[in-house]
Amino acid sequence: MSAHRFGYVVLIGPPNAGKSTLLNALLGQKLAIVSPKPQTTRNQLAGILTTDDAQIVLLDTPGVHIPRGSRLNSRLVEAAWQSLAQAQAIVVVLDAAHHARKPDVLESDLKMLSRPVERSGLPVIVALNKTDAVSDKGLLLPVISRVAEQWPGAEVVPVSALKKQGLDGLIGLMTARLPEGDAMYADDELTTAPMRFLASEIIREKLFLQLSQELPYNTAVAIEHWKDTPKGARVSAVIYVAKDRHKGMVIGKGGKVLKDVGSQARQEIMELTGRPVHLELWVKVREDWTEDDHFMNELGEDLGS
Ligand code: GDP
Ligand code: MG
Repeated sequence: MSAHRFGYVVLIGPPNAGKSTLLNALLGQKLAIVSPKPQTTRNQLAGILTTDDAQIVLLDTPGVHIPRGSRLNSRLVEAAWQSLAQAQAIVVVLDAAHHARKPDVLESDLKMLSRPVERSGLPVIVALNKTDAVSDKGLLLPVISRVAEQWPGAEVVPVSALKKQGLDGLIGLMTARLPEGDAMYADDELTTAPMRFLASEIIREKLFLQLSQELPYNTAVAIEHWKDTPKGARVSAVIYVAKDRHKGMVIGKGGKVLKDVGSQARQEIMELTGRPVHLELWVKVREDWTEDDHFMNELGEDLGS
C-alpha cells in the first residue's frame, strides 16, 4: 500500500465554470453555494475530502479575475491569491461546453488564468467541466489540445460536476500531486468552516436566487445569534444592504422576497444540521459597505474566515 497523503488543492477558474458545483460533487454533499450568476462565492470555502489513501483540503476561490473598482472586488482577488500560496496543486476548472462552441472565450479565459497559474508555480490539473453538455465529444479535442499547449505539464481530465462523471480520475490526479502526510481532520469532517458561516452562505445563496441584477453583489449576511436548544437551533441573521433603496427590494412586496428567502434557507440549514431550525431575518442598511474595510473585517471575523 502506498503512503498516506495530505495537502491543499485550489480550485480556480472563470466565474460560472462550475467550481462550487465540483467542490460539492467531490465532497458528495452540498457545501459551496451555487447559482447561475457569476461570482456567487465570496468568501473562501474549504472542503475536506477524505479517501482511503489521502486527505485533500479543497479551496474554492471567488474566481481570479481582473479587479474592477470596489474594495470588495480587490479583496476577492486578494483571497484567491492567498489560497494559491497555501496549496500544493491547482485544479483549473473550465466550462468545456462553452469553450467547445466559443474558442475566443477559451482564449480570453486562458489569458486571464495564465498569470495566477504560472506565478504560483504549482502543478496544474485541468478539469474540463460540463462535458455532459457536449453531445459530440470530438468537439472537446481542440479544447484539450489548446489547453495542453498552454500548460505543457498539465494533466487534462474531462468531468461533469453535475452528473458526477470523471470525479474518481480527478481525485486520483490530485492525490498523486500531494506530499506524504497524515490526515489533519477527522474523516467525517466536511469543512473547516463553522456552521454559522455555512448558514450565512446558504442565506446569501437564496438571496442570489431571488434577487436580480447587481443587488445581490451588494448584500452581506451576518449571523447575529445562534442558540442551540433541546428543541433545535434559534438563529437570527442580518442581511446588510449598501443603499437605503435596496432595503425594500430585499424585503419585497408585502415581505414576500424576505419570506421566501427565509423559508428556503431555513429548510436547507435544517438539512445541514439535521435539527429543527427557527430562523429570523433582518435587513439593515450599511451605507456603501462594499467600500468599508473595517466593516468587511468585522464580517470576516464573525464568519471565522
Ligand atoms: P462557479 O462560479 O465556478 O462556482 O460555478 P457554479 O458551481 O456556481 O456553477 C455555475 C453554473 O453552472 C450553475 O448553474 C451550475 O448548475 C452549472 N454547472 C456546474 N457544473 C456543471 C456541469 O458539469 N454540467 C452542466 N451542464 N452544468 C454545470
Ligand atoms: Mg462558485
